[in-house]
Amino acid sequence: MAKNLLITNCKQLVTLAGPARPRVGAELRELSIIQDGAMLVSDGSIDRVGSRQQIESTIASNAQVVDAGGRIVLPGFIDAHTHPVFAGTRADEFEERATGVSYQEIAARGGGIQSTVNHTRAASVDDLIALGKRYAQWFRAIRALDEQTPLRYVPTFLGAHTFPTEYRSRPDAYVSLVIDEMLPRVARERLAEFCDVFCEQNVFTTEQAWRILSAARCHGFGLRIHADQLSLSGGATLAAELGTATADHLEHTNEQGIAAMKEAGVQPVLLPGSVYALGSSRYPAARAMIDAGLALVLATDFNPGSSPTPSMLMVLSLASTHLKMTVAESISGAVVTSQRDCDGIRGRVTTPEGWLIPRARINFLNRQTKKNTNIETDENGAYHACLALGTYDITVTSTGFKTAKRKAIKFESSGSLTIDFPMKRGKPVTDQAITQL
Ligand SMILES: [Zn+2]
Repeated sequence: MAKNLLITNCKQLVTLAGPARPRVGAELRELSIIQDGAMLVSDGSIDRVGSRQQIESTIASNAQVVDAGGRIVLPGFIDAHTHPVFAGTRADEFEERATGVSYQEIAARGGGIQSTVNHTRAASVDDLIALGKRYAQWFRAIRALDEQTPLRYVPTFLGAHTFPTEYRSRPDAYVSLVIDEMLPRVARERLAEFCDVFCEQNVFTTEQAWRILSAARCHGFGLRIHADQLSLSGGATLAAELGTATADHLEHTNEQGIAAMKEAGVQPVLLPGSVYALGSSRYPAARAMIDAGLALVLATDFNPGSSPTPSMLMVLSLASTHLKMTVAESISGAVVTSQRDCDGIRGRVTTPEGWLIPRARINFLNRQTKKNTNIETDENGAYHACLALGTYDITVTSTGFKTAKRKAIKFESSGSLTIDFPMKRGKPVTDQAITQL
């Protein structure tokens, strides 16, 4: 990659400049567009944006120039909900649904998710990586894709998506297997950042979902729920009760569910592609969610059965035609997803014995710019800060602990404490444990 890259002659440069947090209400309609714009990229990061005249006059003559040819340039889409690693297809089910067989009926006789599970179990990791690459946007396979492609993948453990055939008659035994064996191993091997459950009638009950997600929280996973997709089954309310990061689908969520998500700060992730592919007309109440002040997100739900499209453009189209969102709201929902998606640093603050420290205050002082960034850990001792490239001194303060400078990464208890960020360009630093003595 050239050291300096100029992208110019953009009819519109859509920057979405604004607060470094998910957008709500009218903010979703603010795209911060620069007419006749240009952008300077230095060393892989956006350095400056402005009018073509402003930017072109400041760049060095050896910069690589990309002429956008009068097109619109906007940030890359973030697909916040996909199932990109699978084997087999479920095209036959599409035809069945067209003749009136419901998704639930297909699932009840072993089709649906179970048929993909069967195909995927039979495939090797190499097969799955090859499949993922072929679809070009797409736990071990996902980690390999993250390393081997320019895209960033955030893996989610969805062990509770359906009951495997051998556990159909004893669902609670499967829930115990997920909690007692799968979750600890996924956590130990750091295979996923989030844990998700398909909470739905005839799948995982709210009680079972609560057990699994509560256990996942103890292992440090972020939480998500497939909620209220096929019926009003209490998923959104449970998401609010647990304070999950997101509740996804929400086709049947009512006013109370929306209010509860608002109160708890849960982000709705809407997946109109699956409503469309299932031939349903029951789209989620996007307008009511935006009006209620929820930080709405759009995603594809790309999977071989209920949403076979990986196209964010199709999702944007459905958002306007069926969710009644404006074009600007749709773009915001597809680009600005959550704080976790800005490049940044995240981890946990713990005592030397490994106890997580909730509500600890962390100050990051940038050595070059002297800029301070202050954040607080959540109730699980986890933090996430959006930081520019640089070297930082870190100070941690928490109730019951003295203020002191502490070293991040392989912590030592004394000295000036610094981190270099990011360790790997273009990808966020993860798992930066800060230990407080
Ligand atoms: Zn899904």
